[in-house]
Amino acid sequence: MSAEPGRDFLIVLLVGPPAAGKDTQASMLAEEFNLWPLSIGAILRERAPEHIKEKMKKGLLIKGEEFNNIILSFVDENAEKMRQKRGIIITGFPRKISDIHLLDDIKKRFPGAKVIAIFLDVPQEEIKKRITGRYHCPKCGRVYNIYVAPPKKDLTCDYDGAKLEKRADDLDESAINKRLEGYYKEEVPIINSLHHHVDKFIELSGLGTVEDIKMRIKTAFERALKGLGF
Ligand SMILES: [Zn+2]
Repeated sequence: MSAEPGRDFLIVLLVGPPAAGKDTQASMLAEEFNLWPLSIGAILRERAPEHIKEKMKKGLLIKGEEFNNIILSFVDENAEKMRQKRGIIITGFPRKISDIHLLDDIKKRFPGAKVIAIFLDVPQEEIKKRITGRYHCPKCGRVYNIYVAPPKKDLTCDYDGAKLEKRADDLDESAINKRLEGYYKEEVPIINSLHHHVDKFIELSGLGTVEDIKMRIKTAFERALKGLGF
C-alpha cells in the first residue's frame, strides 16, 4: 500500500556493465513512461569536486559519505519536480554496498514507492568492442558507435557529412580495464544482491541494436508494471 493514497511512485534502477547503453535506454524509458531520468554519472560530472573527478577519469569507483551527500542533496533539491512524474529512473547505481543504504535513503523521500531493477547484461568482449567503437562528429557533436549505432555511410556524419573522430574524453585502455575489473569485482555482486532490495528484478540481454534493446526493455517493463498492480 502506498503511503500517499492513489499516488504510486516508481523507482527504476537500470543496471549493467559500462557501455551497456544505460543512459540512452533510460532517457527513452523516461520519455515513454513519464519518469525523471537521474544519471548518477551526470550528477557527479556536474557537482563533484575536482579530486573526485580525477578519480572518475582513472576509471575508479567513487565511494564514501561525500558521494552520498552529493546524490542526496540533488534528490532533495529536485524531489518536488520528481514527484510530479510517475517516478524516477536511475542509472550508474548501485555500484557498491553503501549504495544499498543510499537506495534506502532515496526510498524514504518517496514513501510507498515501488522499486524495479532492470539488469542489462552484456558479455565482456562486447563491452570492450563498444567502448573502442565510439566516434563523434566534430562538427555537430553527434555520437556514433561503429558497432551499435553506426553512421549510414562509413565514418561520416549522417547529418552534415563531416568525418567522424574518436572521442577524446573516452577512457584509455588501462582505464577501461580498471573500470571493467571494478565492475566484475564490486558491482556484479551488488547487482545480484538487488533481488532482495527491490519489488521486481528484471534481467535482460543487452545485445543487439539500440532499438532492439529498447523494445525488449519496454515489453518486460510493461509486464512488470502490471504484475505490481500499476
Ligand atoms: Zn555531424
